[in-house]
Amino acid sequence: MSLHTLTLHELHGKLKKREVSSVEVTESVFRRISATEDKLHSYITLCRDKAIAEAKQADERLGKGGESSPLLGIPLALKDIFLTQGVLTTCASKILGNFVPPYDGTAVRKLKEAGAVAVGKTNMDEFAMGSSTENSAIAITHNPWKLDRVPGGSSGGSAAAVAADQCIAALGTDTGGSIRQPAACCGIVGLKPTYGRVSRYGIIAFASSLDQVGPMTKNVTDCALMLEAVAGYDPSDSTSVNAPVPAYASFLNGDAKGLRVGIPKEYFIPGMQPEVEQAVKEAIRVLEKNGIRIEKVSLPHTEYAVAVYYIIATAEASSNLARYDGMKYGYRALARDLTETYTRSREQGFGAEVKRRIMLGTYALSAGYYDAYYLKAQRVRTLVKKDFEAAFRKCDAIITPTAPTTAFKIGEKTQDPLQMYLSDIFTISANLAGLPAISVPCGFDAEGLPIGMQIIGRHFDEATILRLAFAYEQATEWHKKKPLLDHG
Ligand code: GLN
Repeated sequence: MSLHTLTLHELHGKLKKREVSSVEVTESVFRRISATEDKLHSYITLCRDKAIAEAKQADERLGKGGESSPLLGIPLALKDIFLTQGVLTTCASKILGNFVPPYDGTAVRKLKEAGAVAVGKTNMDEFAMGSSTENSAIAITHNPWKLDRVPGGSSGGSAAAVAADQCIAALGTDTGGSIRQPAACCGIVGLKPTYGRVSRYGIIAFASSLDQVGPMTKNVTDCALMLEAVAGYDPSDSTSVNAPVPAYASFLNGDAKGLRVGIPKEYFIPGMQPEVEQAVKEAIRVLEKNGIRIEKVSLPHTEYAVAVYYIIATAEASSNLARYDGMKYGYRALARDLTETYTRSREQGFGAEVKRRIMLGTYALSAGYYDAYYLKAQRVRTLVKKDFEAAFRKCDAIITPTAPTTAFKIGEKTQDPLQMYLSDIFTISANLAGLPAISVPCGFDAEGLPIGMQIIGRHFDEATILRLAFAYEQATEWHKKKPLLDHG
């Protein structure tokens, strides 16, 4: 048995009993990375020496006993959007190509305090803008299930690394689907918590009213354990909520009996891959056998979600990305004067998609257009949120597909941004409404590519979606399948 193939929960048991050491697990993970990274390119930066040192410290703590953190000694991967003290943090952009942060973000600090081992920083779409990880300025990550496919995005490096056992679990961020969509594409579990549940302090901002941090894991139990470790109030993030963090794993009893699940008709639409629809409908039947009650619900403003998102997200991004000016940190172009330094640094430092978003966002916020676009989008956002409030009067959770298709071919959508934007058609609404949502594997298409089912919950009710996801996982075998890393 190779240690890197085990789950976080399984390894925790073995580490606690001292059957294995954290150094052994960490070395096993790095051996796996050496054997597979040429094919996958999941990582931007690997921290081998640091990781082994952290693993040694974890082993000392384990040796003393008395500690219960499930993350103690577990090798994890971090999306390259998380600030990590002393470790290069690029956000997959040339403009941050040389940026070494002076501090850790809160989620990273919590993981470190819990004794986790940081394996490295994973590839992503530049500034988390994308659905395929092809917008990275550093590398293209390949899907472990079929190497000519994208891993999804923007947290595609984290998803590929988890699926291919190049880490035990990973952390991603989700602004419009960037945890759930790559999780679905790579056949793993990914959870976007409620807005405000996890601190955003020390993650590079994309769209501040939508961004959330969340776990990407091999199964639902690991997801619950990791969420508990990173969740909670943080005075450094004024949008983090001061509410107690439940012991999420305690809700995983394999039983979903009596839960009412809403199925929105707007999420089963013409144009989606038929196998995706079939797999999700079959998954719903499995849950019905498990005792859930099905309710038909309607989310009538769903059709506006993508448009609303691409106004709000680009508007916020245009403001957040104003800080990259070649002066304070990051890439600086050679220029004759200050203004030219600003313009050239941005011109040379940002990739095409990031520039497109900055232009769209600046336009939507400009005088004369603000009311017509930004204000209107905010109003429709409220309608999207109200749709969910109405639906949640009839049900405890909502089930939909995570993405309309399985992983597409590398290069297939890069020339058509609108097609790329539609990859998030089913995930975006949860961000607009601030709701928690999880993606779990629910089958494969004829080409052997994984399919994901999304479960959306009420605000701060991660416990219910985890409980449902776990009950489904217990009844199926999908999460146990491993990719072969071939061209297929
Ligand atoms: N794919 C969406 C976008 O490009 C969402 C990205 C994300 O969640 N970070 O904006």
